[in-house]
Amino acid sequence: MAFDIEMIKKVYERMPARVEAARKLVGRPLTLTEKILYSHLWDGNPATVFERGKSYVDFAPDRVAMQDATAQMALLQFMQAGRPKVAVPSTVHCDHLITAKVGSSEDLHTAEVSNKEVYDFLSSVSNKYGIGFWKPGAGIIHQVVLENYAFPGGMMIGTDSHTVNAGGLGMIAIGVGGADACDVMAGLPWELKFPKLIGVKLTGKLSGWTAPKDVILKVAGILTVKGGTGCIVEYFGEGVTSMSCTGKGTIANMGAEIGATTSTFGYDESMERYLRSTDRNEVADLANGIKQHLTADAEVYANPEKYFDQLIEINLDELEPHLNGPFTPDLATPISKIKEEAEKNGWPTKIEVGLIGSCTNSSYEDISRAASLAKQVANKNLKTKAEFTITPGSELVRYTIERDGFLETFDQIGAKVFANACGPCIGMWARVGAEKAEKNTIVHSFNRNFAKRADGNPNTFAFVGSPELVTALAIAGDLTFNPATDYLINEKGEKVKLDAPTGDELPVKGFAVEDAGYQAPAADGSGVTVAVSPTSDRLQLLDPFAAWEGTDLKGLKLLIKAKGKCTTDHISMAGPWLKYRGHLDNISNNMLIGAVNFFNEKTDNVKNQLTGEYGPVPATQRAYKAAGIGSIVVGDENYGEGSSREHAAMEPRHLGVRVVLTKSFARIHETNLKKQGMLGVTFANPADYDKIQENDVIDIIGLTEFAPGKQLTVVLHHADGSTEQFAVNHTYNEQQIEWFKAGGALNIIRKQVVN
Ligand code: SF4
Repeated sequence: MAFDIEMIKKVYERMPARVEAARKLVGRPLTLTEKILYSHLWDGNPATVFERGKSYVDFAPDRVAMQDATAQMALLQFMQAGRPKVAVPSTVHCDHLITAKVGSSEDLHTAEVSNKEVYDFLSSVSNKYGIGFWKPGAGIIHQVVLENYAFPGGMMIGTDSHTVNAGGLGMIAIGVGGADACDVMAGLPWELKFPKLIGVKLTGKLSGWTAPKDVILKVAGILTVKGGTGCIVEYFGEGVTSMSCTGKGTIANMGAEIGATTSTFGYDESMERYLRSTDRNEVADLANGIKQHLTADAEVYANPEKYFDQLIEINLDELEPHLNGPFTPDLATPISKIKEEAEKNGWPTKIEVGLIGSCTNSSYEDISRAASLAKQVANKNLKTKAEFTITPGSELVRYTIERDGFLETFDQIGAKVFANACGPCIGMWARVGAEKAEKNTIVHSFNRNFAKRADGNPNTFAFVGSPELVTALAIAGDLTFNPATDYLINEKGEKVKLDAPTGDELPVKGFAVEDAGYQAPAADGSGVTVAVSPTSDRLQLLDPFAAWEGTDLKGLKLLIKAKGKCTTDHISMAGPWLKYRGHLDNISNNMLIGAVNFFNEKTDNVKNQLTGEYGPVPATQRAYKAAGIGSIVVGDENYGEGSSREHAAMEPRHLGVRVVLTKSFARIHETNLKKQGMLGVTFANPADYDKIQENDVIDIIGLTEFAPGKQLTVVLHHADGSTEQFAVNHTYNEQQIEWFKAGGALNIIRKQVVN
């Protein structure tokens, strides 16, 4: 059995008392989100009222999930913690590193060969530390989590932004960086700013061509890509209860596209049906036992405007199918307006490829409804005009849809079935001719459609729609086709209309699979050796960072004074560097190569103060390191915004940068710096940024009395012999100061384990 029933029992046993305590404490009815959050407090029973959008709270998530690209550094760090086993149930999923090219078996084989060392590492480290391992081909992390691990009222984190998908089964599921995952696996609390709440009330019922995907496409149009930031979205209303659990998963999945922390739904019969059909009767029975706690208090949904910070209402009876795009998932156009918009904006209307599947939309229901359209191609003497591909979300779904004849139906319209993996959704699509960068249109049922996301071609106009609409559009080959109203001309020259899609929420004969691709960990992993070749260029075991030397930091060379925006992408670029996510020294060759040097306005070109020559940032820093000289990075406002990528903090630490001094930090990056034992400080007076000169040698004074709330002093030694000094602020608390002194949080955890 893959899921941990004992853990779920514990969560459900403690939930009623904690919900009751929270209700008393806040003195009003509770939303579902609040019930789940308050029952997952690190300190146990609720004792403080948290302020939405303000309070930082320590939580105790129930699970951790990691995908193969991000799991590498998370687990290399976890190994540093010295724990014999993960503290909470955790899983690894091999889905991101498989290129879609020829078709599922060949592509899978190619990936197994080219990523062998990564897979061997992930498999052995999972085996050793009690982590469930899902092999390449088993499926996409979020689909596999929904099928096996998600449970109503639970809380999980995952090292992927679409971890939020599990909200479809009533969880609070949140995407995080590897450092956070490492902490939770090591038994530490996980901190989150208590979110604001957006309520979405769905009235009416989906019918005809409209699908759950259209709900979130509409919401994205309303809220835009930033509208959910810092918020949890809670859906409710009659429209929710009439929708399938996997449909809810699709909506929750794309909450990431509106920047939401996560989305969730109250427990209902669709969830119970899904739990039972995926072999989790015990979970369904337990959930039924505490159902009233797995949804909001009745008063909340009766008067939602009183309990949510923002309220949106959508009538599903009036909702039209949508296409969102191109180039951004919040540009929402109802299908009846596409023709007009395409003409106005010059979008290419010939559809080259329709792609269905991915973690967003590859449920049995999705596939069966898309297949009902594919079937009509032969029945109505049509010919599919565009290419058509399917990326099943899991082997469980793939096996079942093959058994039920859907894959054969798709085969008859010339479809290509890719491996159960991310493939075209994450740019791992070796699309023939993409390198020509021709302007073209594709439609897909994935979630993101930024330029280059699918095939690397910046001129591919990608539109996001439901799998049903994507299939209909691929058949028509025309972006302006509205299947609800328009006719097609078939091979006999007759006018025909597609019937609205039909399908089954769940397989009538039940799900089936021969080998789901799961590898359980060893009961006792102490004898298992983790496979990392010392000559590998993709993986490298980590060495603990050195502890603070106990003195002020003096004689630091200015490495770079970054100008303007400096996101985690500028600090640690993605793209070709993804390959080195498990090799700290190699990936450090991208350190700050995207940052703009204040003094010459160039990227990756800074002065080496030892030679006076200009060169790349990483090489310059390596020269300082080789000479045993520390350095400092100076940044502008909101330094480190973007992702929670811990590499952006680990690389400077690894290469010997001692201090990052900025006008302000993005909070997650600031915490990541602290965790790695780095000193991150901010100008008390932001105008002091202007005092930093290119040839400065810099001291940080006051570290021997480093204390919460106490300023430090920066002394600048300019090249002309003059000096200036000013105060800098920091946000280190007692514990974080200990991290700094020990050389990093993991050094402390390891000590605790040894002691
Ligand atoms: Fe991310 Fe796409 Fe993979 Fe889903 S299918 S996990 S969105 S890359």
